[in-house]
Amino acid sequence: MATPIGNLRDVTLRALDTLSSVDLVYAEDTRQTRRLFDAYGIKTSLRTYHDHNGAIKRPEILEEIRAGKSIALVSDAGTPLISDPGFKLVRDLREAEEPVIPIPGPSALTAALSAAGLPTDCFLFAGFLPVKSHARQNRLSDFKTLQTTLAIYESGNRLADTLADIIAVYGDIDVVMARELTKLFETFRMSKASDLIAFVKESGPPKGEIVLLASLTGVPGGEPEPEDIEAFLLERLDALGAKGA
Ligand code: SAM
Repeated sequence: MATPIGNLRDVTLRALDTLSSVDLVYAEDTRQTRRLFDAYGIKTSLRTYHDHNGAIKRPEILEEIRAGKSIALVSDAGTPLISDPGFKLVRDLREAEEPVIPIPGPSALTAALSAAGLPTDCFLFAGFLPVKSHARQNRLSDFKTLQTTLAIYESGNRLADTLADIIAVYGDIDVVMARELTKLFETFRMSKASDLIAFVKESGPPKGEIVLLASLTGVPGGEPEPEDIEAFLLERLDALGAKGA
């Protein structure tokens, strides 16, 4: 189930009801979840489920569910499985035909998209990009022809390098940095990728958590923008005609 990404008031009533009433809550980090529990007086038993113990825990959790226990899964913040543990557990439970009930709520992805001012009719969430520049550029290249808004999770320390790779692959496009969403220092900054690099170089890597967004519509080498399509087609037809002549 989803839990807040900063502001503890963003928890849903259904999440609180469920966290209080289930037999067990599996959390990525029990200390983190304990803060939420303490804020709302929740006393339910907490256990850990994360990438490092998942292989051992999954059969145990399945056993517990088969024994009739009700179990909730939370990650440190936001929605489990969204760049967070849980996929293999949910897959195994579905394969075992056990019910999995989503309890929706906050996610940094949807919070960022909902306030960035970029098109949201079609977006691509790429999670965390590879750490090495070459692999990162390759991943970014995969999306180059898509007419979409791209959303990635990024850290302040890697932001300038990722922006440099964005410029290398897409050109100096507009980007939005959504930082510290729902927290005291929440910031949205829209600028050319190069201006954001200059800002980061001048003021140091931004502190806190970041979602980086960019609209890939009209990226050079990508698909043309709809209003350019007529000119684009005429150009292509011209080129074909020229070839045929
Ligand atoms: N499952 C979470 C969700 O639904 O948003 C994401 C977990 S992922 C491990 C953590 C990353 O999400 C951070 O590194 C950051 O990129 C992004 N993130 C989480 N909370 C954020 C916040 N309050 N503001 C901006 N980005 C955030």
